[in-house]
Amino acid sequence: MRFMRYAPITYLAMELVKFDTQAMVNPEISGVDYQQGELWGYEVREYLLEKFGRKCVYCGAKNVPLEIEHIVPKSRGGSNRVSNLTLACHACNQKKGNQTAQEFGHPHVQRLAKLPLKDASAINATRWKVYQTLQSFCLPIEIGTGGRTKYNRARQNYPKTHWLDAVCVGESGQAVFVSPNHHQPLIIKAIGRGNRQMTKPDKYGFPRATRQCKKVYFGFQTGGDIAKAMVTSGKKMGIYVGKVAVRASGKFNITTTTDTIQGINHRFFKMIHKSDGYNYMKGERALLPMPKGRGIRV
Ligand SMILES: [Zn+2]
Repeated sequence: MRFMRYAPITYLAMELVKFDTQAMVNPEISGVDYQQGELWGYEVREYLLEKFGRKCVYCGAKNVPLEIEHIVPKSRGGSNRVSNLTLACHACNQKKGNQTAQEFGHPHVQRLAKLPLKDASAINATRWKVYQTLQSFCLPIEIGTGGRTKYNRARQNYPKTHWLDAVCVGESGQAVFVSPNHHQPLIIKAIGRGNRQMTKPDKYGFPRATRQCKKVYFGFQTGGDIAKAMVTSGKKMGIYVGKVAVRASGKFNITTTTDTIQGINHRFFKMIHKSDGYNYMKGERALLPMPKGRGIRV
């Protein structure tokens, strides 16, 4: 609801799980397009990297290019199913050739591959709770996997940042348009209202009798209030927008993105945003190449 004050939300896409193991293991239910497509390959690769610890299963080499490898070679009747796949460095893959992992001297790889895929454990209770909460908004919700997010982002050449990952979640995230000049994330951080600590200790460590409370002067409060000060005369003449710091004297300070101007009369202030316990900040703009021929998504 808070977001809706700033942007009309018509659609939700949520990354629920890391991998769609269900679809990977039962290609029948996900259809031929998915199984033969790039996305399947991408998701399987990510899954194997995680399952086999990002190293060659045979020699243990790390930080080398890894190839998807058939535990029982296709020429020996092995399938393309995830349970028959692992990751090996190029040298081991070549050396193994037409042998099974067992024949190659690695029976444990064969055992490991047969372990059931723990997809259920990947969906933790918190994520389901978030999903259920989102359902109460009565908006269309789409669920995507982490593998799909990464695939979408990589294909559109967007750099890795949290917000661009968020933009690329789900099927709808495969064609999004983020402009380097116009789009930047709005970062909302909970800061709480006032000072939660009821009593602050004095210099001897004893609790003080009364709590410090937030003082409101001339309708303004220090903390989260954002205002515009239009100073029409004097040395400080100008228009300033930023956070207000109040004083009983009625001479306020204002902190803009560049500096703090002190001692401006409260009469020049106009409230832009009353503190609501959240801090609003513009994040970094995306420095990225302009992709061509993409749909627009806001
Ligand atoms: Zn190796």
